[in-house]
Amino acid sequence: MDAHLILEACEIIGALTPLAGDCGALCGAACCQPDEDGQGGMFLFPGERALLAGESWCRIAPSAGPGDVLTCLAPCPREKRPLACRIFPLTPVWTGENWTVRMDARARAMCPLCPSGVKGVQKEFALAVRRALRRIAQDPEGEAFLHAWQKLEEQYRNFSL
Ligand code: SF4
Ligand code: SF4
Repeated sequence: MDAHLILEACEIIGALTPLAGDCGALCGAACCQPDEDGQGGMFLFPGERALLAGESWCRIAPSAGPGDVLTCLAPCPREKRPLACRIFPLTPVWTGENWTVRMDARARAMCPLCPSGVKGVQKEFALAVRRALRRIAQDPEGEAFLHAWQKLEEQYRNFSL
């Protein structure tokens, strides 16, 4: 997928964030902290590696999941954070007719916004993330990635029920 689609998706979300204020102040930016074993990371969308390769604050490696995984070695320059960070704690879900968003089951362990569901984040943010993901889905590789992402997220969802 051409990296310009990632940039378009980022532009759609723009400066919108889950809350009007800095939600990281609620939780100590829990979603930016590594796992207990120092691992963890964010999946990169197809083509996104080209935008981030060579950055000294992160490491990018292939994974058995939907895409390459970016692991942070230091806090990112905010304007360079990957699309997965921009949509968090939302996740794409295919309704059978279109893509929409819901809370990511992987966020349950650390994100204080999860119990309130999508209604607990700014409406403009949720709508923008949905639009951005629908833009990604217009590309066949992007759409396949979203389905693979959802499949993995559902494994966590079912596991943590
Ligand atoms: S864990 Fe949730 S509340 Fe905390 S910074 Fe991340 S998205 Fe915001
Ligand atoms: S890329 Fe930035 S926003 Fe994303 S997890 Fe790393 S430090 Fe946090």
